[in-house]
Amino acid sequence: MKKIAIIGAGISGLFFANLLENEKSYSYKIFEKKNSLDLSDGYGIQLSVNSINLLNKIGFKKINVSDICFPKKVNFFDAKNSKKICDIDLSQFNNQNNRYTTLKRSKFIEFLLENIPSEKIVFNSDLINIKNEDRLLLSFKDKKIEEFDYLVAADGIYSKTKQILFKKEGLPKYFNSIALRGNIRNLENFDISLYLGPNFHFVIYPINQNKEFNFISIIRKELIQEEISDRNLFKDSTFISNLLNQISFKSNVNLIDNIEDIKCFPIFVSKKVQIPQSKNIFLTGDAFYSFPPSFAQGASQSIEAANELFNDLKNNTSNYYKTRILKTKQINSRSSLNHFTFQLSNPLNVFFRNIFLKYFSKNKKFLENYLGKIYNH
Ligand SMILES: Cc1cc2nc3c(=O)[nH]c(=O)nc-3n(C[C@H](O)[C@H](O)[C@H](O)COP(=O)(O)OP(=O)(O)OC[C@H]3O[C@@H](n4cnc5c(N)ncnc54)[C@H](O)[C@@H]3O)c2cc1C
Repeated sequence: MKKIAIIGAGISGLFFANLLENEKSYSYKIFEKKNSLDLSDGYGIQLSVNSINLLNKIGFKKINVSDICFPKKVNFFDAKNSKKICDIDLSQFNNQNNRYTTLKRSKFIEFLLENIPSEKIVFNSDLINIKNEDRLLLSFKDKKIEEFDYLVAADGIYSKTKQILFKKEGLPKYFNSIALRGNIRNLENFDISLYLGPNFHFVIYPINQNKEFNFISIIRKELIQEEISDRNLFKDSTFISNLLNQISFKSNVNLIDNIEDIKCFPIFVSKKVQIPQSKNIFLTGDAFYSFPPSFAQGASQSIEAANELFNDLKNNTSNYYKTRILKTKQINSRSSLNHFTFQLSNPLNVFFRNIFLKYFSKNKKFLENYLGKIYNH
């Protein structure tokens, strides 16, 4: 029986483990750096039908309906006056079994953990070295060394595995943007609301049936290297309230009084696609490629990637990287275009952007190509 080491108990690693649980010809162990998984945070995640389709194969349908939401539309607003620009009907990409879904990230992790025996996750495990001899020898910070046939790196955007394999080239780059994340309660709109402002945008969406909502804003911010590396800066309450004031000042939504549990973090993206030389080491999820967060595809792609990798191993084929590179290019170009379009600042550009948005949001051919290709893959 082949032994697989999964590095990281995030979305990609846990989904991959769920697939392995249904296929008993492999044994596996998950190594997670943290000492536990946070199952209490209230932040949200959006999952499009491409990943719901895969999640239903591991029983996502059984999740409590009060813990999820099925937004039907994305409504685009001008942040400055909350005037609606247009909307996109997301439900046109749904089918009877698979619907665009939003929920709390912690509920989602809880679901992914349900079928994984607890002894298969080893916490406090920080990978420090990989030796590739007949088999893979993995060394961890606590001095344990273990032997495996395959390594699946699902250790996220700051992937240690990638740094071990590619040194400095494995590091992500700062995306000149900061994310503000928080919770809002008691709104009445159960669709996704996207507010476009100059050099920022924010999204509000429901995460369950209890009128809890996720707030996420991406704000353009140039920082010098010392600021980027200073983790305390992103916890500093003055820094956070200055950012919130900055976007509140340019929008007429009352953000300051309504957002709770606000947190801030710098956004990093991958520099380029990198493929390990060893045929038994695989990168998946954000460790393979991390996109600008303006297409809400990070989690869905992490799930798709894990599924493709699983099929490759099961069928003894080697299509994984070829398929992934193609998909990554498609998602990356859409994420970058969205980001650019959402944050225009010149009033003339904004005027024309809004005309284009109104037109394309109702153009079936465009939507099929831009979203359908990704959602109904
Ligand atoms: C602001 C923002 C908003 C987002 N919103 C959405 C959204 O709405 N929809 C969506 O689809 N995606 C969204 N994403 C992207 C999504 O969260 C990620 O793409 C997704 O979580 C990636 O999953 P992953 O499993 O690759 O990594 P992660 O979920 O980050 O998991 C990585 C795991 O590896 C562990 N780890 C790290 N280093 C080590 C190590 N050395 N050894 C062992 N374990 C390690 C970590 O502790 C973690 O548990 C968003 C991202 C950002 C930044």
